[in-house]
Amino acid sequence: MENEFSSIHEFDFNLICEYFSSVDRQGPGSVESALKALGFIDNLNEDSKIIDLGCGTGTQTITVANNVPGKVFALDLFPLFVSKLDEKIKEMGLDNKISTIVGSMDKLPFDKNFFDLIWCEGAVYNIGFRNALTIWKDFLNDNGYAAVTEVSWLTEKRPKEIEDFWMDAYNEIDTVSNKIKVIEQCGYKPVAAFVLPENCWTDNFYIPQIKAQYEFLNKYPDNPTASSLVESQRHEFELYKKYSSYYGYVFYIAKKI
Ligand code: SAH
Repeated sequence: MENEFSSIHEFDFNLICEYFSSVDRQGPGSVESALKALGFIDNLNEDSKIIDLGCGTGTQTITVANNVPGKVFALDLFPLFVSKLDEKIKEMGLDNKISTIVGSMDKLPFDKNFFDLIWCEGAVYNIGFRNALTIWKDFLNDNGYAAVTEVSWLTEKRPKEIEDFWMDAYNEIDTVSNKIKVIEQCGYKPVAAFVLPENCWTDNFYIPQIKAQYEFLNKYPDNPTASSLVESQRHEFELYKKYSSYYGYVFYIAKKI
């Protein structure tokens, strides 16, 4: 019985990974915002070590790798995403620049003080912002940076529907000023914080999913996991269109002190 349950569970899980691996980004972002964040980081050279945590299929890993000196590592929990990134690395001849790892961002298989920059787009919520900054600090060398996007409230008050949605999805969501406070409390200097433009969510995240959703539903008709996944993504997009003035992803750049 237990085996039966775990295999059903595994099927659901593989289906969700398959859905998200069919799009370029598994979270909101853009080349421009990654480059803007990189513009605040001034400690990198040919010997630097950079890691992209929760890299997914690695669209932003490639952007980072093409724009920093040094060696880039990319880690994600899900092997399917990492194998997609491995394919891109091969195609682009970046084998010497990027190394991938399947693992969890809260159990980094590296020595303390190893990294000059920890990068994380659209993924820190998996272990929580405060928890992540606390854990990652040990892995940064002196004056190392963390550059992290985190969903944040853009206003002090907001309508109940969106408040309830996010409190249920990620109750660590908070205002930008409170997130900056967390950065300070965790032993970092806040270097910059900027709100990702709306096209990071629309053009780069939700709109590419529309075609993927039709294909996915055609491939898995009558599959309850497939339909509820698509439904929840469509619902999220509707909420975003309605309430994008109240929340967004914010790029936080913090320097270890
Ligand atoms: N950075 C990518 C993916 C964001 S989606 C982008 O911006 O497109 C969030 C990612 O976090 C997924 O790829 C998911 O597999 C990964 N993830 C979830 N829990 C994780 C964990 N504990 N450790 C590492 N990665 C994790």
